Amino acid sequence: MAKILTLRPLTPESPVTAVPGVGEAVAPRLAKLGIVTVRDLLYHLPRRYEDSRDVVPIAELRPGEVQTSLVRVTDVRAVQRRMHLLQVSVEDSTGVAEAIWFNQPFRQRDLRPGTTLFLRGKVKPGRLPTFQAPVYERPRSEQRHLGRLAPVYPETHKLSTRMLRSFMEPALAAAVAIPDPVPPPVRERESLPDLGEALRQAHFPDDQGSADRARERIAFEELFLIQVAAERARRRRLGSVGVTVPYDVEAAREFTRGLPFKLTDGQRVAAHEILTDMAKTGPMNRLLQGDVGSGKTVVAAMAALLTHRAGLQTAVMAPTEILARQHAQTLDALLAPHGLVPRLLVGSTTATARREVLEALAGGQDSLIVGTHALIEDDVVLRRLGLAVVDEQHRFGVAQRQRLRQKSGAMPNFLAMTATPIPRSLALTLYGDVDVSELRELPPGRQAVDTSVVAPHRRDAAYGFVGDQLHGGRQAFVICPLIEESDKLGVRSATAEFERLSTGVFADFRVDLLHGRLPAKEKEERMRRFASGETDLLVATSVVEVGVDLPNATIMLVEGAERFGLAQLHQFRGRVGRGEHRSYCLLFEGGTEPDEQSSSRLDALATTQSGFDLAELDLKLRGAGDVVGLRQHGLPEMRVADLLDLALAARARRAAVDWLDSDPALSRHLPLREALDRYTSVFDLD
Ligand code: ADP
Ligand code: MG
Repeated sequence: MAKILTLRPLTPESPVTAVPGVGEAVAPRLAKLGIVTVRDLLYHLPRRYEDSRDVVPIAELRPGEVQTSLVRVTDVRAVQRRMHLLQVSVEDSTGVAEAIWFNQPFRQRDLRPGTTLFLRGKVKPGRLPTFQAPVYERPRSEQRHLGRLAPVYPETHKLSTRMLRSFMEPALAAAVAIPDPVPPPVRERESLPDLGEALRQAHFPDDQGSADRARERIAFEELFLIQVAAERARRRRLGSVGVTVPYDVEAAREFTRGLPFKLTDGQRVAAHEILTDMAKTGPMNRLLQGDVGSGKTVVAAMAALLTHRAGLQTAVMAPTEILARQHAQTLDALLAPHGLVPRLLVGSTTATARREVLEALAGGQDSLIVGTHALIEDDVVLRRLGLAVVDEQHRFGVAQRQRLRQKSGAMPNFLAMTATPIPRSLALTLYGDVDVSELRELPPGRQAVDTSVVAPHRRDAAYGFVGDQLHGGRQAFVICPLIEESDKLGVRSATAEFERLSTGVFADFRVDLLHGRLPAKEKEERMRRFASGETDLLVATSVVEVGVDLPNATIMLVEGAERFGLAQLHQFRGRVGRGEHRSYCLLFEGGTEPDEQSSSRLDALATTQSGFDLAELDLKLRGAGDVVGLRQHGLPEMRVADLLDLALAARARRAAVDWLDSDPALSRHLPLREALDRYTSVFDLD
């Protein structure tokens, strides 16, 4: 088998099954890690290295430590008592030692007298120093496991490090053939090794310095590709002709004067940034980040009004029907006095009403439409679309956001809004083609939600407090990490909590259940019942995350709180404290021993009210991979690059801008183009 394969050399595009040893059993496990081709395999980098370069002469072995020796086998004895014992005598020029294995009779094959081996394991003192079940490898021209810095891979999906090392070696033969996406001039300027050499050193490094340089090089490549994609998308966008909306300062002033409150500084700055963008020829692509209640809708309303004054339409898309209705109401209150009345289009809109709305939109009489996914259906025509607004944008896929933009012939201005802020450091690294506005302060007079971590023995007292609130006419949420009981001990499920609470301590109240496995209609209906006050207590999973306004809800009780990210807990907390009543967030940790890190995260939530600060903290504590919403925001996954390595990101960004200046069409270095084509860009507007 191996012979046949060597006749057909591996290429980067070969399926991973062409690698000797990768069979039908292993291929699906690799696929789970996204490894399908030899290239994917090569980019699967070790987590760390195991150093067994220090070869210890037998005479110098220290008892109790893991050590490596280079020895010759002199004698092998197999003893069968209660267990099978394999006892092997070894020697080198300095002395003799033993090695033993229990219940591994098959090893006898590898350990014939006369064989030379690296042995590595813990050494027990005794009459002779004895290696306890050591690992071993014969000395070869290229060591794979012992006598070198050997890669250690993350062990997931039943893929052991030993297996991966053995796959990697033949795969690396193909590494030299991988076209390097980083153009040679960039590589030179940045003093980076070429790709084939970097891959070899990243897996089987000569020394730690080479490993570090190799990883830096691969991380640079990853960031460079993102930055080229982003910068190219930005240039294309700014160079294309979009719709322009004149910055009508008088209309903006008039709108502000008509408000029952004063805009916050953040709102004023954000509005100015948006109106300035909209007045440019290239279409706007802006993300407005701000905590729940920070007043994003007001800012969007001002943009809609100016768009209307320019004779163009605005579409506002929200992820749920309740939210869409809420937006329609808010926008109506803000804009009707200025002659702009929003229309609503949602899943439950009747056929007759729908036809009427579609006609008005197509005819261009109506300038403001608010809705759900219903807005992106094919028969919805928005020929004069000037502004597309997407609320809770991470709830939509990239494709859905794009379909909304494509509703008109020209490229409309685009405003995404989110109450799950991404740390600015990350936004700068990754959102190359998105401009970011932030509302960091809440309007004056808002009260903080009283947040505390509740000890298990205080549970009854907490329920008593919740009961008091419900008796006083308020409403409460109970959030659980799971829908149904699982064998994971101590994690509460929504279904079981609903049963327990509705028949037990809260039997006198109207309790309802909400989770993601309910049909969409049923979810909306139960949420609506809660919003209208028909139920008192809602037991739910994380589906309640989205920004519904429920001024009467004052309790957010979270079970298994350590299982959620800080950003998500903050989202939950944002469901309460929206009215005049003092509100509370009660956090219970799950049944398992709370570890120190999760406790300190929950404490941080109790003392921090800003979603921006929490996002930064979450990023520090859990790493970029786990920041809530990151993947949902449609960002490409980084295999190697540390998103917080801002210095490397800045280098990559500068290199990307320089390269595009010198090669705008990306025609001078084809491998770069090909690499960009390989990953689905999240930046593309067309
Ligand atoms: P978001 O969408 O960011 O969660 P909204 O735009 O819905 O927030 O605003 C939340 C509430 O705050 C609304 O009732 C709105 O009228 C009010 N609001 C907005 N801006 C201000 C302000 N500057 N001062 C006082 N209240 C404001
Ligand atoms: Mg909102």
